[in-house]
Amino acid sequence: MSKLKIALQKSGRLSEKSIVLLEECGIRFPNGGGKLITKSSNFPIEILFLRDDDIPQYIEQHVADIGIVGENVFLESRKNISIVEKLGFSACRLSIAVPKEINYTGLSFFNNKRIATSYPNILSDYLRNNNIDSTIEVISGSVEIAPGIGLADGICDIVSSGSTLLSNGLKEVENVLNSQAVLVANQNLDGDKQIILDKLLFRLRSVRKAKENKYILLNAPNDKLEKIIQILPGMNSPTILPLAKEGWSSLHSVISDDKFWDIIDELKEAGAEGILVVQIEKMIL
Ligand code: ATP
Ligand code: ZN
Repeated sequence: MSKLKIALQKSGRLSEKSIVLLEECGIRFPNGGGKLITKSSNFPIEILFLRDDDIPQYIEQHVADIGIVGENVFLESRKNISIVEKLGFSACRLSIAVPKEINYTGLSFFNNKRIATSYPNILSDYLRNNNIDSTIEVISGSVEIAPGIGLADGICDIVSSGSTLLSNGLKEVENVLNSQAVLVANQNLDGDKQIILDKLLFRLRSVRKAKENKYILLNAPNDKLEKIIQILPGMNSPTILPLAKEGWSSLHSVISDDKFWDIIDELKEAGAEGILVVQIEKMIL
């Protein structure tokens, strides 16, 4: 029986969340011990721990079949691999920043100027699309010090909170790309591996869906039920169970996490009592 090989970042910002995601999908494997390759004991998958920058190439070359990287790394790599699922964690953006005292009026500022970055491919596409002619200084780390040491007029780097920019006297002036962790795959997986990938994707989506929703239970007098049901856009129609208390019912449904507080307010107003909200572990659709 063939196994699917997944490449994860060995140590860094994606590592822990990637491992937790596989665990939430019910995939068990020995963790730690500094091993570079490990097998799951209950799912046909092998896990390779690599530097994130190497993952796209290894997938293209069939060393691994799939992997988890930031979209920024995927795009910069220009490898012939595909995104199969956006994973919704490790959100960040690739931005251009300049020293804060610069009176920045627009991208044309960068004509005939130098920009330091570790993302020369993404940046050169961006500049070309905007008809800007700059020199790109490629450096592999600590990009934010480049303007201060006279290496460049601005930088293009990953930003999440912006605090690194601030502490280096820089301000963000252009957003080049919004990024998040993505599941990438080789474009020519054989039939067996595709079946395993589909199984994994089904689990990933169930975990994701569960996180985006909550299970809600509440009590209400029967004459208020109709109004309450209209407030609840559940998966299907809500479950209604009679309470021991005469003329009252218990109502169960699923609500989306982002509308959560608004819905709770409306429910209370409509006469709901004893509202319980429960986390959903998996949601199978
Ligand atoms: P490696 O040693 O594997 O090459 P790295 O230093 O290149 O690791 P990390 O800093 O661990 O990479 O970041 C991994 C990914 O996490 C980035 O490519 C990006 O998609 C995402 N990320 C999220 N927030 C940030 C942030 N504030 N700074 C850098 N990367 C971030
Ligand atoms: Zn890296």
